[in-house]
Amino acid sequence: MNEAKSRVFHEIDFDKPGRQVGYLRVPQSRDGGAWATIEIPIAVFNGGPGPAVLFTGGVHGDEYEGPIAVSRLARRLDPGALRGKVILMPALDLPAAMAGRRMCPVDGRDFNRCFPGDPKGSFCQVLAHFVDSVILPQVEVSVDVHAAGNAMEAALSSNMHHSQDAGLLARTIAMASAFGAPYNVVFWGVDETATLAAAAEARGVLAIACELGGYGRVSVDGVRIAERGLDNVLRHFGMIDGRPDTTQADGSPATKHMEVRDQRGYVFAPSEGLFEPLHLPGAPVAEGELAGYLHFVEEWEREPIPVKFRSDGYVWMAPGQGRVKKGDVVGVVMRPYAG
Ligand SMILES: [Zn+2]
Repeated sequence: MNEAKSRVFHEIDFDKPGRQVGYLRVPQSRDGGAWATIEIPIAVFNGGPGPAVLFTGGVHGDEYEGPIAVSRLARRLDPGALRGKVILMPALDLPAAMAGRRMCPVDGRDFNRCFPGDPKGSFCQVLAHFVDSVILPQVEVSVDVHAAGNAMEAALSSNMHHSQDAGLLARTIAMASAFGAPYNVVFWGVDETATLAAAAEARGVLAIACELGGYGRVSVDGVRIAERGLDNVLRHFGMIDGRPDTTQADGSPATKHMEVRDQRGYVFAPSEGLFEPLHLPGAPVAEGELAGYLHFVEEWEREPIPVKFRSDGYVWMAPGQGRVKKGDVVGVVMRPYAG
């Protein structure tokens, strides 16, 4: 299973006690740089016996809360107070993170659609292969911090795939509850087979991701929830002292568990145009209710098209980029988790 030798090299000793920071060097030959590499930041904290976890940010470069929260944890975590191992990669697709873009500018790919990767492939494929074949086999837990990027804003949430394995499902929900975002969304997946979370699950790693902001800016609450959530996961597994703090801004004590069970939760643009959304993330909505209007500013004669929700629930993802193409998602509705 994907055990071909990686072309990524580094000087990290994953078994060495204490704190190490360094770089993964991904070969990237170019004009003027035959042996050039792209250096991906990595930190490893080894506090002796205990669980091993992977925290990642910057899988998409237009999502900023993960890089901030994961790199800050790398500065403040005390290896002397840690039981187990923490691997931190705050800006995994570094070229995308430096460019503030979803797609990697080196090879034009979405890094989170490249797993399990290919050691002879493009930059994203080589890096995905390294993460899959070298990093994931070392850990039992993965938390991948995302936001909704330039195109959307998410109700602040963790998310996880549904599983037929009742024990695995319960352990993943327990971890998401400990993470303590306002919402946790269990979803059945659309185009989810090539993601980091899917690769982690294929290797038996307990995996959640998060959507902690969007609209191409840094969410104040998203950063706070990301930082607290990473600490909460370490507390949940007994790796640092203390109990998870899951108190919410509205005074409620815990995460609300939600689900997106099928395609009816998704609202698609029926044509190319300018989409005017009518709801903010978290808003309650009903099946048949207007999600927004698709405008055609280039034609006086053409009336805006009303676009409707296809499911009751609450807005998980709200659009905000303006111009959309036919088939783009212009809203995702979550419902209370039915188990
Ligand atoms: Zn993302």
